[in-house]
Amino acid sequence: MSDVQTSLTFRANAARAIKDAPLRAAMRQAADTFGAKRADAFAPVADLEALRDKASALRMQVLDRLQEYEEMFASRATRAGATVHRAKDAAAAREIIARILTDRGAKTVVKSKSMVSEEIHLNAHLEKEGLEVLETDLGEYIIQLVGETPSHIIVPAIHKNRQQVGRLFAEKLGVEYTEDPQVLTKIARRTIREKFLTADAGLSGANFAAAASGSLVLFTNEGNGRMVTTVPPLHIAILSLEKMIPSLADLPTFIRLLPRSATGQSITSYVSVITGTRKPGEATGAKELHIVLLDNGRAEILSGECREILKCIRCGACMNVCPVYRTVGGHSYGWTYPGPMGIVLTTLLTGMAKSHPLVDASTLCGACDEVCPVRIPLVDLVLKLRERRVREGFSRPMEKRGMRVFGKVAASPSLFSAGQFLSRTFWPLVRAFGGKDVAGRLPGPAKVPFHRRVP
Ligand code: SF4
Repeated sequence: MSDVQTSLTFRANAARAIKDAPLRAAMRQAADTFGAKRADAFAPVADLEALRDKASALRMQVLDRLQEYEEMFASRATRAGATVHRAKDAAAAREIIARILTDRGAKTVVKSKSMVSEEIHLNAHLEKEGLEVLETDLGEYIIQLVGETPSHIIVPAIHKNRQQVGRLFAEKLGVEYTEDPQVLTKIARRTIREKFLTADAGLSGANFAAAASGSLVLFTNEGNGRMVTTVPPLHIAILSLEKMIPSLADLPTFIRLLPRSATGQSITSYVSVITGTRKPGEATGAKELHIVLLDNGRAEILSGECREILKCIRCGACMNVCPVYRTVGGHSYGWTYPGPMGIVLTTLLTGMAKSHPLVDASTLCGACDEVCPVRIPLVDLVLKLRERRVREGFSRPMEKRGMRVFGKVAASPSLFSAGQFLSRTFWPLVRAFGGKDVAGRLPGPAKVPFHRRVP
C-alpha cells in the first residue's frame, strides 16, 4: 500500500482509514454533532426551501454573468484602494503572492483559513522563498503543527481528538499535557497572539466578493480573520472567481444559510466586510490590500456540463451527511476538497486521469442533495462524471467486462431467467464466503422475481 495518498489511491486510502478506529470515532462524533446542530439551527427557519431557491438562483445568476461581475468587482475594489491581480493557475497565483511579499521585504505572514491557498499549495511555496507562515485558525494551526492538510473544509482538524491535540501541544510547544479543550485553546491563543502584532503581512481567503462595492466578506468564529486582515500593514486576499455575489444586498440570504449549514450557528461570531484599504481617520485596516482572483480551471468548468458545482459556498454540509466521507475521512480523497463536493470539484480541477477512482466515492444515496443550501445536484454531477470516466476510458477492466456480460444477459429473457435461477441457487454459498464483506451483507435475491409478481 502506498504511503503517498492521492486521489488515484483512493481505494487504498479508504481501506487504511477504515482500520483506523480513533479516526472513525472522531469523524462519527464530529459529523453527528454538526448534523444535529444543523437540524436545530434550521428548525425555526420557516422559509428554508424558499431561501434555498433564492440562494441557488443568485449563485446561478453569478455563474451566468461571471465575467461581468468579476470586472465590476475589480474596478470597484481598485477604486476603494485595493490592487487586483488575476491568476490563471496555481503557479501564477503563488508567484504573484510571493512577489508582493518579497518586494516589500516581508519575513513573517499570519494566515486565516483559506481552502484556495491549500489548493495552490501556497504555504510550501512561501516557505521555500524564506518566509515564515503561521496558520492562525485553531484547526489549521493544529494541522500545521502536525504537518498535515485539512480533512474538512470547515473543520480542518476534524479527524483529531483532544487527547491527540494534547500530546501534540506537549511535544511541539513544550507545554504540560492537558486534554482540556479550553486550556488547549488558551495555549494556542497565547502563541498566535504575539505573531499578529509583529507579522509583516496577513493572508486570507474570502467567503464572498460583492461585485457592486468591490468588498470582501469573511465569516469567521475565532476573531483571527479580523486580526489577519486588519493588524498587519499589508493584507493579501486570495479567492477563486466563483466567490462573487452581485452586491452586499444579497449577503443576508447567505448569512442565513451558510453558518447554519456549516456549523449549526444562526450566525458566525464575526462577519467582516472589507472594502478597500484603511482610510484617513480609520483606526483599523490594512494600509495596503492586494486581491488575487484565481481561475485555476474554473473558466473551463463554467462552460461544461458540471458547471453547477461552482455554486458551492463551501459550507461542508454535504460532507457531514455523506456515509462515505463519515467513514473514511477527508484525507482519503487525496486532494484539497473531500466529500461529495470534493469528488466533483477535484475531478474537474485535476482531470479524470488523476482522480478517476474518486467518482466511486458515493453511494448515490442523495443525502448531500438534501442538505445543500444552494441546491447543487451532487448526485447528478457524480453520475455525469461516471459517464465521462467511461467515455474517457478510465473504467477498471473488471468493471468493463462485468458490464459487457451483464448487458448481454439483460438483453436476453432466457439468459436473464437462467441468471436469476443460478443466483437464487448459489446465494447461500456467496453469503458464506462473503463473510463480513459486501457480498456477505447483501440481501439475497427475492424468491419470486419482481416481474412475475406484476399481474
Ligand atoms: S456542495 Fe453544497 S453542501 Fe456541499 S459544501 Fe458546497 S454548498 Fe455546501
